[in-house]
Amino acid sequence: MKLDDVADDLEEILLTEDAIHVRIAELSRQVEKDYAGEPLLLVGVLKGAVMVMADLARELKLPINMDWMAVSSYGSGTQSSGVVRILKDLDTDLTGRRVLIVEDIIDSGLTLSWLLANLQSRGAASVDILALLRKPDAAKVDVPVRYVGFDIPNKFVVGYGLDYAERYRNLRGVGVLAPHVYQ
Ligand code: 5GP
Repeated sequence: MKLDDVADDLEEILLTEDAIHVRIAELSRQVEKDYAGEPLLLVGVLKGAVMVMADLARELKLPINMDWMAVSSYGSGTQSSGVVRILKDLDTDLTGRRVLIVEDIIDSGLTLSWLLANLQSRGAASVDILALLRKPDAAKVDVPVRYVGFDIPNKFVVGYGLDYAERYRNLRGVGVLAPHVYQ
């Protein structure tokens, strides 16, 4: 679905489909350089990272595996609870693996800092983070993110995997949700 198809629900268009794809290609070239042909395990964080993962994985010229974790940090509202719970764990043993966590967005950073520590404790050779979006003004903890797609304003966004109450994940771009939708 295109951003235009839900224009009334959006206050502002932040990222078009083309802008996202150009940036993912750029990030992929950096990842390829940094991992220099080494096998890489991409760990996607469900459900928001599905679109980034699909596009990144297909763009990367590296031998990759993909695995998924589901954690809960948000309910159906727009506020971070700060509480992280594993809803689905990895199927892969991380011992000796080079791991790249693939995230949709870093808001407070609470989810990712917890996830980073969790995966680092499993014997991986390296654990790094790629996030498509980051809200610098919302940071509550400092997370060492190696690859960032875009820094965005501290507003609630939807699209390209990101939802509001499970809607809008299938938008091809990213937009700021209009307040009338959640008020
Ligand atoms: P954090 O722990 O960094 O505050 O939040 C991380 C998670 O909260 C993200 O993976 C995402 O699921 C959700 N989240 C944070 N900001 C937004 C936003 O602007 N829009 C949507 N749809 N989800 C968000």
